[in-house]
Amino acid sequence: MMSDSDYGRRTLDFLETHALSAEPIHYWVVHEFLQGRNEELVRAVDDRINMGKPFDAYFVLDMYERFVAGAAFRQFRGMGDDMEKLLGGLIENLRAADRSASGFQDSLNANIARLERDNDPTGLKAVAQNLLKAAVAANANNEALQRNLETTEQEAQQLRSELEKQRRESITDALTGLLNRRGMEVEMTHVFNTTQEVPAALLVLDIDHFKNINDTYGHAVGDVVIRRVAEMLSGMVPSDAVSARFGGEEFVVLLPGASPHQAHLIGEKIRESIEKLRLVRRHDKLAISAFTISIGVAARSVSDTFDHLFERADKALYDAKTGGRNRVVMA
Ligand code: GH3
Ligand code: MG
Ligand code: MG
Repeated sequence: MMSDSDYGRRTLDFLETHALSAEPIHYWVVHEFLQGRNEELVRAVDDRINMGKPFDAYFVLDMYERFVAGAAFRQFRGMGDDMEKLLGGLIENLRAADRSASGFQDSLNANIARLERDNDPTGLKAVAQNLLKAAVAANANNEALQRNLETTEQEAQQLRSELEKQRRESITDALTGLLNRRGMEVEMTHVFNTTQEVPAALLVLDIDHFKNINDTYGHAVGDVVIRRVAEMLSGMVPSDAVSARFGGEEFVVLLPGASPHQAHLIGEKIRESIEKLRLVRRHDKLAISAFTISIGVAARSVSDTFDHLFERADKALYDAKTGGRNRVVMA
């Protein structure tokens, strides 16, 4: 049996071997990998190592988004509901006419115990604890208790809008403002499911030979390229389209209401515009070589799932790559 500190040391060794800094996300992913309990993560990392591909910071971040952050995020998403329930319950308790101070405290204690059990990640526990303090201080003094309740309700409202803001940030890609991979899993799937009665198509896009851009001009220019491609995408798709950046230089666009033909036309328009795009590095006016993008398109069929549709579009993208790149392929 290995102890926690053994894993800690092995994690640091591993990071050093792969020239990765020991920042929290790197540490978290590698630690989880070495522990071996997260099967998807272990499989993905083993594959990567077997393929001899670099184990770099981008890869670690991708692993984090795909296999590590997900569980934490799902827990986080339920929190707004928890808060409603908690507050609703507390207010009811308070309003009950035959409420005794001790009964109220019991209920608060039960709520706090529940939050502890659920491993409450942020402020809910604090809110409950404030309420408990309020109840004790008021010592069955209705008026003071009521006042404290109102203050705490306000605090809870603030916490709730803070949570909403964090939720939005957690599904947004900071570089492009598009949905990130989690956003794709949550929001895009939601749109997919709520537009079942209309046709729909999915584009999966991947910049061609992007590694060359990074290698030639550096990662900062690579980032600008990614951002410009995202801007072009957003500008060229209908307003009800949902776009995400789900990997380094990989994008996906859901087109609700689009026929296969329309989706193909949109893909072709995007492909052409990227081909014609000419970027110039601002500080030294260096012209960046033209680049291209490959696109896979799949149309939604009856009783399709998002995952199946994605799989077909991704397969079409693969065909576009092996067919010579800079092309749109229909699944
Ligand atoms: P292909 O035409 O087959 O798609 O080749 P490619 O070079 O585009 O594909 P590959 O997957 O080999 O390389 C993608 C590279 O993108 C690898 C990674 O270092 C880089 N990358 C991933 N995320 C980012 C990012 O956020 N910014 C920058 N600048 N580079 C990134
Ligand atoms: Mg790629
Ligand atoms: Mg690529």
